[in-house]
Amino acid sequence: MNSNVQSRITLPDGASVPRIGQGTWNMGEEPSRRAEEIASLRLGVELGMNLIDTAEMYGDGRSEELVGEAVKGIRDDVFLVSKVYPHNAGMERLARSCEASLKRLGTDHLDLYLLHWRGSIPLEETVEEMEKLVAAGKISRWGVSNLDTDEMKSLLRIPGGNHCAVNQVLYHLGSRGIEHDLLPWQQSRKIPVMAYSPLAQAGTLRKGLTENAELKEIASNHGVTPLQIMLAWSIHKDQVIAIPKAGTREHVTANAEAGRIKLSADDLWRLDEAFPQPGWRVPLDMI
Ligand code: NDP
Repeated sequence: MNSNVQSRITLPDGASVPRIGQGTWNMGEEPSRRAEEIASLRLGVELGMNLIDTAEMYGDGRSEELVGEAVKGIRDDVFLVSKVYPHNAGMERLARSCEASLKRLGTDHLDLYLLHWRGSIPLEETVEEMEKLVAAGKISRWGVSNLDTDEMKSLLRIPGGNHCAVNQVLYHLGSRGIEHDLLPWQQSRKIPVMAYSPLAQAGTLRKGLTENAELKEIASNHGVTPLQIMLAWSIHKDQVIAIPKAGTREHVTANAEAGRIKLSADDLWRLDEAFPQPGWRVPLDMI
């Protein structure tokens, strides 16, 4: 297989995105790391992880500025995702936030714009404003983040709510709550889950996770690291995209390689035993 090919997934409107993209939270904060962070993102795009996720919140726009620098000259090769603060997701403010993000990113449109989490502005208003941005060509599609099943159901009852392209939520081997009902619900409607913190930077069970003996042994059998197994695991279910954040070329390369790991039925069974999904409904895990 060509080393630059990542497996891909189709969004509800037919757009194709890689199963592993790139997160950028905490990027652009440290001047001494800037050049390496930019080089890492560009390498990631070359290696097929051409979805880049950022947000107006990250470093008060510094992450978007860094991404803007990273995609200079390769903008058309990148599927660019940003997010709006809930308090900016209403009339006038949404368009203003979007314009400011576009400016920082040095582009004229976003491929996907997400409501970062649910705030007090009615979803109806946010959907209406998002649809206006689509009509104006400022964004190609919109989605949400950190919405649990009931909120997703409410969203889909709103006129235009069925245009929601993804729901970005926390999901990794140590935080499997969404498998109870949110993930199956989204799978049945073909609305992808975009898994954040897939390397367990946050979430219910994160400390010591990579020290688990089963995980270590499976990793050793594949000749990879436990984190690469975690990343491969995070995208093994239907309709899941993962967006690991990596600030070094070494980490980016390892993450791209994780996209080619084939977990066997036995690997998956052992991981299920070591990290069981909760047998009951749990509130959505989030940072
Ligand atoms: P991740 O689970 O992706 O973990 C990131 C950490 O893992 C960093 O410390 C990084 O180090 C390290 N790392 C990356 N690759 C490797 C590797 N191959 N080997 C060893 N270490 C590695 O955490 P995030 O919380 O950042 O989640 C990913 C993205 O999801 C965010 O960046 C953001 O874009 C998005 N997100 C969205 C949220 C939301 O509310 N919608 C909330 C949180 C995140 P280093 O930087 O040194 O490479």
